[in-house]
Amino acid sequence: MEKDLKILLLEDVEDDAGLVERAIRKSGIRFISKRVDTREEFIAALDLFKPDVILSDHALPQFNSIEAMKICKNSGKNLPFILVTGTVSEEFAVNCIKQGVDDYVLKTNLSRLPSAILNAIAIRESEQKKHEAEMAIRKQNMELVKINQELDGFVYSVSHNLRAPLASVLGLVNLAKIEDRQRNSGFGNYLDMMEKSVLKLDETLKEILDYSRNSRTNLDHIPIDLEKLIRESFERFKYLEGMSTIKIIIDINKSAEFHTDAYRFSTLISNLISNAVKYRDKYKEDKFIRIRADISEDRMELIFEDNGMGIHPERVSKIFDMFYRGTEHSQGAGLGLYIVKQIVDKLEGEINVHSEVGVGTSFRLLLPNLVNAEKKLVDES
Ligand code: ADP
Repeated sequence: MEKDLKILLLEDVEDDAGLVERAIRKSGIRFISKRVDTREEFIAALDLFKPDVILSDHALPQFNSIEAMKICKNSGKNLPFILVTGTVSEEFAVNCIKQGVDDYVLKTNLSRLPSAILNAIAIRESEQKKHEAEMAIRKQNMELVKINQELDGFVYSVSHNLRAPLASVLGLVNLAKIEDRQRNSGFGNYLDMMEKSVLKLDETLKEILDYSRNSRTNLDHIPIDLEKLIRESFERFKYLEGMSTIKIIIDINKSAEFHTDAYRFSTLISNLISNAVKYRDKYKEDKFIRIRADISEDRMELIFEDNGMGIHPERVSKIFDMFYRGTEHSQGAGLGLYIVKQIVDKLEGEINVHSEVGVGTSFRLLLPNLVNAEKKLVDES
């Protein structure tokens, strides 16, 4: 220890204080001490003497050690506090430790005092370091959350703001197409290509907005009509290339009403549908998408199956990654299944996939029935 240890002695008997000091000196610990025996002196010494450790007798004429320890704690000082006292009962000693005293040493066994002091200081120092490290992590976390929120907000507004000019470009391309047909100028192919690229860009922006909405907004719970919601989703894709060649099979088995976040759930279903259509096997005659659902009071199990081109076994573990595209047939940004996974996580569900090249792909989803979450809220209020 480089500097002298500052010991504050709360002791009314001068001779006892002398014995304590002698026991510490004998151990080789270098220290300076100050003895006080009233509350006022004790409070003043905490600020002026700035002790490293407090040694306190238990009972003083107008003061006691537990009160002293509380004053010390309330002042925000994380100081080791050791009781140095005459014979006490085991129960009393245990109670003192429970209240926050670091250790207690009997005046009849002062040879233990130096090691008790060093131990208590070491423990407090490591606690202090741990506390400082936790505070630093907490602060860093708060900063990260803030940066994340700002980034999300930024992504949201940029994507949102880019969609309006894109819609204008699309409108102008359509006008140009009409004029091109009237004048027979022969730009049709270029205009079709432009339209396709703009639509693809718009689709990516829409996906980014879906991702952003999922991470920014709170969960909503409403009862959903699963079959209706699925059919409406298919309806939105009726003009998607290849959709009309696929047979849709929906089989719902329901023993309870299902509550979930309708917007998120329909985003999820839409992504699965558009993939099943995009990655259909063009060479199969009997293309199908089969959706089976089992709904109970607790959850829904949903199997979303297609007999499309399937996914290569080496790629299947990556399909939920951000920006991952598993095939050259992909024309998307590799965000669809990433968003699906984010939504499933937000809903505290599970998703897994089984796929075989040339046979098809099947996604199994387990989603909690939020009807219980709602009931809980009502019960609690
Ligand atoms: P994207 O469709 O934009 O490429 P997704 O995240 O939606 O991105 O899908 C990631 C990859 O997973 C796709 O590129 C594709 O290889 C594969 N995939 C997803 N769904 C299916 C499916 N139903 N059948 C076959 N492959 C699929």
